[in-house]
Parts: sequence; structure tokens; C-alpha cells
Amino acid sequence: MDHRELTARIKALLRERRGIWLAHNYQRPEIQDGADLTGDSLALSIAAAKTDAELILFCGVHFMAESAAILSPQKRVLLPRLDAGCPMANMIAAEQLVGAKRQRPGYSVVTYVNSTAAVKAESDICCTSANAVRVVEAAPSEKVFFAPDQNLAQWVAAQTKKKVEWWRGFCPTHHRLTAEHVRRAKERWPDAVVVVHPECRPEVTALADLVASTSGMLKWAQTASVKRALIGTEEGLLHGLRKANANIEYALIDEETLICPNMKLTTLPDVLAALERPADYTVTVPDDIRRRAKRALDRMLEVG
Ligand code: SF4
Repeated sequence: MDHRELTARIKALLRERRGIWLAHNYQRPEIQDGADLTGDSLALSIAAAKTDAELILFCGVHFMAESAAILSPQKRVLLPRLDAGCPMANMIAAEQLVGAKRQRPGYSVVTYVNSTAAVKAESDICCTSANAVRVVEAAPSEKVFFAPDQNLAQWVAAQTKKKVEWWRGFCPTHHRLTAEHVRRAKERWPDAVVVVHPECRPEVTALADLVASTSGMLKWAQTASVKRALIGTEEGLLHGLRKANANIEYALIDEETLICPNMKLTTLPDVLAALERPADYTVTVPDDIRRRAKRALDRMLEVG
């Protein structure tokens, strides 16, 4: 079956099962094109929770399906590739966060949504890359422990007067990008605007014209009047950026670096297989963890 036939078959099964198809901004183009909704992980989970769908088909990585299950306990959540994990989320276990908290009494624990449900459950409040500064500012303590991303933490620390300490996790895809990559890309395209994700190293964000989350980059592209943009985030976002504004010529800052193998695992045949055998692809979160993780997410939503 080609992409068109596979997508038609998937959509027919989704209709039968009253399902909604979500695709993260970093997924393969054919997955993004087939999905009902594309976006960042939390926006997708929030949107799906508001629907009356009975099934959520999440094309992304494991923690994203967990977030959907946390916010939609009555819906079945499918992850077509159960081996699609996030190395950054897996860099801290709940027990390690408990240990870090014990060493820092009086600190508020702010956890990036790119984390496991068990780690969220041990956190005071969650944040996204778009709202991290606001969440840290709103946290009850003047001292914050931030997990798991050291780069996002440093990006936030530079914009707040609060004392911020962090876990030394990182997204391998963004962390591999260096200042030298940016300099070389700028030599290639001296007239281009440099747009990077805050999961990049501080020396990379320091060279950027704009530092933004994936949703922030898409929003920027809709109204930007630049000719060329050098992009410092995962390759999959180029598909959305081209749809958002086809008048801009985009290139990755470094093509070899900015690919997340986990985000590329899911194919249309995987999606079809998950719908044909949903019991084998269901992601669940134990109720105790779910309730505590939801509390941390709800606190973030209250910050807005
Ligand atoms: S791009 Fe980075 S943060 Fe996103 S899933 Fe891949 S490793 Fe995790």
C-alpha cells in the first residue's frame, strides 16, 4: 500500500473506533499530513482531552503518550512504536529526583514536560519550553530545581532573578549542535535569520536571532517577512514551517545533527498495526502516579 492508501485505511479504522490521530511536529511528513492534529506534545494532549474521542493515537515518543493518558484517563492511548523513547526523559528517574529534592529543602521543583510520568509525579509544577520562564517566576520558592534539561534550565536562569539549579540531562539531538555549526551555517547563508530551540546549548542560543519552542517557531513563521531562515531544531519541523510560510527558504543549521532517531521510528504501517491490535500498543499510567503528575500539570495550566 502507498501512503495514500495506508492513510485512508488508518482513517477508516479511526472512524470505527472513534479515535483522534495526533502527530508531534518532529514526525515524518506523511504522518503529520495524515494526522487530525499536529503540534507540540502538551498542546496535543490538551486538545485531545477536550474531544469526545474514545481513543488517542499518538505519533511521538513514550512520554507524550503518557501525558495524553494523564489528561485523558477515560480514553485509550496508543503509541504505534512502544520503543520510541526520549533519551532526555530517560536521563532522570523518579528516585533520582527524590534524591535531588532531599538535598535541596525549600526549593520548588520545576519539571519540563519532556519527562516520564513518574518524574512529573515527584514535581511541584511542570513547564513547557514556551512557558518555562513564566512557570519558574510563578513557582512558590525563590530557589528552583529544574529537571531534566540543563540547557532549557540555563536559558531560563538567564531570564530570572531566582536561583536556579538543574539536573544535567539534555536532548542529544539539540545538545549536539555547536556554536561552530552555527558559524558555518551563517557563512553559507549570511543573510539568514537564525532561529533555535532553547534545548540547544547556551553558546548556540547566544548566537541566535530568535530562541523559541516549536510552536513559537511556527507562529513566528506565519508572519515573518524574511527571505531565509537557519533552523536549530529537529528536522521534522521544517515540514510545518514550509506549510506555515512557503515564502521563506529554510535550512537546518546542521543536517546531520538535527535528527532525532526516536521521532523518526514511526511509519504509516506502524500506525495501521497499532489500530489493528490496540491492546498491544496501549500506554497506561498507574493511577497514583497519574493523579500526582496531573497535579503538576494542572499547576502549570493555572500559570497560563
Ligand atoms: S528531539 Fe530530543 S527531546 Fe525530543 S524526543 Fe528526541 S531526544 Fe527527546
